[in-house]
Amino acid sequence: MDDKKILLTGDRPTGRLHLGHYVGSLRNRVELQKREDIDKFFIMIADTQALTDNYGNPAKVKDNIIQVALDDLACGISKDKACIFIQSQVPELFELTCYFLDLVTVSRLERNPTVKNEIQQKGFEESIPAGFLTYPVSQASDILAFDTDIVPVGEDQAPMIEQTNEIARRFNYLYGDTFKEVKMLLPENRSACRLPGTDGKSKMSKSLNNCIYISDDENTVNQKVKTMFTDPLHLRVEDPGHTDNNPVFIYLDALVKDEDFKMYYSKFANFNQLKEAYEKGGVGDVEIKQFLAKVINNTLSPIRERRKEFEKDISSIYRMLEENSKRASFEASKKVKQVRRHLSVDYFTDYKFIEKQQKAFNKEHRDEENLKAYLAKKK
Ligand code: ATP
Ligand code: MG
Repeated sequence: MDDKKILLTGDRPTGRLHLGHYVGSLRNRVELQKREDIDKFFIMIADTQALTDNYGNPAKVKDNIIQVALDDLACGISKDKACIFIQSQVPELFELTCYFLDLVTVSRLERNPTVKNEIQQKGFEESIPAGFLTYPVSQASDILAFDTDIVPVGEDQAPMIEQTNEIARRFNYLYGDTFKEVKMLLPENRSACRLPGTDGKSKMSKSLNNCIYISDDENTVNQKVKTMFTDPLHLRVEDPGHTDNNPVFIYLDALVKDEDFKMYYSKFANFNQLKEAYEKGGVGDVEIKQFLAKVINNTLSPIRERRKEFEKDISSIYRMLEENSKRASFEASKKVKQVRRHLSVDYFTDYKFIEKQQKAFNKEHRDEENLKAYLAKKK
C-alpha cells in the first residue's frame, strides 16, 4: 500500500472555472483519477482562502461553491474516485494553520512572488489583510493535513508548494518526523502551465475579467475569441506574425489536436505548420480565430451537456459536499492527533503523563505527611 499516492488540489470559489483551470489542472485531474496508483484524491473548494480577499462579499463565495463543484463534475471528476469537499467545513485545517503560523516569519511571507503580485493586482497597498498575507500557510495546512504526495496545479502555485515544504521540514526538525514533502505536478504542455487572459495579460484569472469560462455557451465563446488580443504588429495578412506571447497561439498550443485540423482547417496538417505559416506572413487573424473558436467549442461541448444534467439536482451535490467534508475532517483528524502529541497539547489523552504527575504529587504528599509525623513525635 505504501507506494499508493495521495493527491490534493483545489480552487477558490470566486467564480466559475475557466479555460486556464481546464488546461492547467482539470484536464490533468480527470486523467489522474483513472490511475491505479492513486489511493485518495481530494479536491478542495477553498472558501476560507477566497474570503481572505472577498471578506466584503461572502455571498459571492457562497454562490460560487456550487459553480466550482458543477464545473469539476462536468469535466469528468467522478464522485466515487475523488472527494470534493469544502475547506471551511474541516475545522482541523484552521487548527493546523494556527500552529504553522508560528513557524513562518512575516518577511518570508512578504517575499512570496505570487502573493506579491496579487497584492499589487488587488490594490491592497499598505492595508494587506493579515489573512491574505498568510494564506500560503493555510494552504500548507490543507496539503499537509492529508499526508499528500502530489499536488496537480498551475505554475502560479510553485511558491505555495515551496512554502509548504519549508513548513514541513521545520516542523519535522523541531518536533520529530510528522510530514512528508510534497511534489507539484505541472501540465506537460508548457502553454497550459499559465494560460494568459483573452486580453493578453499574463494569466487568465477570475479576478481579472479576462476569462473564457468552461460553461460559456457557443456564442459567448465565439464573441470572446473574436475580440481576443493577438499580435499588435500583424496589421495586414501578408505581414509576418509573432506567435510568442500571442494568446491565440498559446490557446491553440494548449488545446488543439491534429484531428481538429482535419475537421476544421485542412489547409494545415498540424499546429507547427500553422505556426510557421503565420510567422512567415499570409495567414489572417480572423481565420485563425474562427478555427480557435471551433476547437474551444468542440472541447467544451460535451462538458456543457454533462453540466446541464448535474444542474438538475443541486441538493444532491450539496449532500455529496457535506458527506465529503465530514470524510475529509475524519482523515485530517488523524494527522492533527499526531501534531497535538508533538506539540504537547494532547492533555486529555497523554495518560502516561497524567500518571507521572500524579506520582510526583503523591510523593510530595507523602513527604509532607512524613514530615508532619516526625514533628509530632518530637513533641
Ligand atoms: P482567483 O483570481 O480568484 O485567484 P484563479 O483564476 O487564479 O482565481 P484559482 O482558484 O486561484 O483560480 O486556481 C485554481 C487552480 O487553477 C490552481 O491550480 C491554479 O494554478 C490553476 N490556474 C488558475 N489560473 C490558471 C491559468 N491561467 N493557467 C493555468 N492554470 C491556472
Ligand atoms: Mg488564483
